[in-house]
Amino acid sequence: MIIGLTGGIASGKSTVARLFGALGVPWVDADDIARDVVGRGQPALAEIIARHGQAVIDDHGCLNRSALRAIVFADPAERRWLEGVTHPRIRQRLQERLNELQSGDAPYVLLVSPLLFESGQSQLVERCLVIDVPEPLQLSRTASRDGVDEAQAAAIVRAQMPRDERLERADEIIVNDGDLASLEAQVVTLDRHYRHLAHGAGTLPDAT
Ligand code: ADP
Repeated sequence: MIIGLTGGIASGKSTVARLFGALGVPWVDADDIARDVVGRGQPALAEIIARHGQAVIDDHGCLNRSALRAIVFADPAERRWLEGVTHPRIRQRLQERLNELQSGDAPYVLLVSPLLFESGQSQLVERCLVIDVPEPLQLSRTASRDGVDEAQAAAIVRAQMPRDERLERADEIIVNDGDLASLEAQVVTLDRHYRHLAHGAGTLPDAT
């Protein structure tokens, strides 16, 4: 069984993934895979260079992300082109990695992805777990983690999928508005729930 784990910026995805990891649940992070497919020497990077030239790489032959971001931000057609180059490769690698993890003895595995719904990666998973956080807390956690001010954090949040829409698509929800102990308690409860589901048990404990 594959569980998709998502949420807005600084909702707590990495923190929750680590807590599941401590319970023996492995995960793959879609952001890591997305970085890998445009890594130095990768075919996707070669295609990007062929289209946009040396301006999108740095002195070490690595992708200059901010240069490429500026191009696709200004031109939706370029964004679609880029997604056409990267998304199929990301999906294939994710699938391979998830298959590897599933062939181990884990009870279930997690796909951690900030764009689980937007990218169509939710099609790879059986259930979607959404981390929800009240916006003021999300802004302060973003600001203190990333060294941005709250106005910048708010602009990032506005560019993401609205909270309500994400929640509508959730099978399970973790509300990360307390301390780490309360977060851990929710993860432990959900882990029990998922282990039952993975074993096809008929009666489920209450996960909420
Ligand atoms: P994401 O991976 O969704 O961007 P993180 O797991 O990195 O989010 O969490 C964002 C920030 O908030 C991190 O600095 C993290 O340590 C902090 N954080 C997350 N959950 C809590 C919590 N329950 N209490 C206090 N700090 C938290």
